[in-house]
Amino acid sequence: MISDARRPLFSEEHIIFREQVRAFLEREAVPHHDRWEAEGQVDRAIWTAAGAQGMLCPTAPEAFGGVGGDPLFSVVVVEELARAGVSGLGFWVHSEMAVPYVVNFGSEAQKQRWLPGLISGALIAAVGMTEPDAGSDLRGMKTRARQLDDGRWTIKGQKVFISNGQMCDLLVLAAKTEVEGRDRISLFLVDAALEGFRRGRNLDKLGVHAQDTSELFFDDLVLPADALLGAIGEGFAYLRHGLVRERMMIAVSCVAKAERAMALTQEHVHQRKMFGTSLGAFQNTRFVLADCATDITVGREFIDSFLARYIAGELDEHNAAIAKLWATEMIGRVTDACLQMFGGWGYMTEYPIARMWAEARVERIAGGASEVMRDLIGAQL
Ligand SMILES: Cc1cc2nc3c(=O)[nH]c(=O)nc-3n(C[C@H](O)[C@H](O)[C@H](O)COP(=O)(O)OP(=O)(O)OC[C@H]3O[C@@H](n4cnc5c(N)ncnc54)[C@H](O)[C@@H]3O)c2cc1C
Repeated sequence: MISDARRPLFSEEHIIFREQVRAFLEREAVPHHDRWEAEGQVDRAIWTAAGAQGMLCPTAPEAFGGVGGDPLFSVVVVEELARAGVSGLGFWVHSEMAVPYVVNFGSEAQKQRWLPGLISGALIAAVGMTEPDAGSDLRGMKTRARQLDDGRWTIKGQKVFISNGQMCDLLVLAAKTEVEGRDRISLFLVDAALEGFRRGRNLDKLGVHAQDTSELFFDDLVLPADALLGAIGEGFAYLRHGLVRERMMIAVSCVAKAERAMALTQEHVHQRKMFGTSLGAFQNTRFVLADCATDITVGREFIDSFLARYIAGELDEHNAAIAKLWATEMIGRVTDACLQMFGGWGYMTEYPIARMWAEARVERIAGGASEVMRDLIGAQL
């Protein structure tokens, strides 16, 4: 169970915020999650309720309605979402993936336009990088932006697997642009209410059923001139910058999820009676739990030390890839070992461990596959 007691990074303020977030999720999200899973997305009202609690974009500047917290406030939200098992809430996609692009690279006018609504939860954000034929190899994307004589942009193409895709009001879109005769990726802030922005299917996934994951189509979508984010042709550099935060937060989330899987399993093995004793009494069970506890303890210390680097602005792409690779492989090991302890019940989706196992599977793929992480790490060795 997550406690800040032995985590020197966290102050009294973080601890109080954690209690508030935990209580909010228990009250406002947990009771509805099964229904959201059946419906394939969460209620919109939970977004504004979370915004009112300062849970969305906790690091966003005060000038735009944020609380201007340090990154540990984000960590608290990400960990508590994992602890509560409310995987359908795409808050971290919004706060840790999408909105930082607006904060870090947006113009003053773009920030004025978008940030207050994104912070309050009135607006929901998503990031559109992946396409049906280009995921790991982002440079292979085909979605193209062309500038018209009057400065506006036309966008033609499609994206896939976009988290918050059904619900988003703002899409941070990556598209090819021509810069001095060469194709380079640029980012755009796309208002989802514009004609030419079309949502496709809410994709049916192996897990994370309450999180909407969509196809998006751009049928000659026309964007105003000021929809370009930052400098033309710099999109790939911006994505690389953003992916450090995204991967670090995935790693944070995985350790918290492993703690939850372990807690559920400990409870189960001591209750489950067999062969005249309890499942927990077998040496094999103790060995399984010992391996999980070792993974979690190592993970917690490792991730907290990388968080300290991250807060100091010293976590680079190489180390973010190490964090993501290790933590996502670890959550796969831990949820699989824990599920085994539940026997057939572990395969039933009414048991949280079954859902956690399915949810853990995506961690080695989304945000950059493990092989891409190994490539990034290996390139510097
Ligand atoms: C649930 C979910 C949510 C997602 N949310 C978003 C989102 O919000 N926004 C967004 O833009 N994208 C999102 N994605 C997309 C995700 O980032 C991609 O699925 C991922 O980057 C892999 O791309 P791909 O699916 O095209 O697989 P491919 O690129 O086709 O890769 C397939 C496999 O090839 C192997 N491989 C890839 N590269 C290498 C390499 N260099 N060396 C060796 N082997 C390699 C890996 O095993 C990989 O799994 C999401 C995906 C999922 C499943």
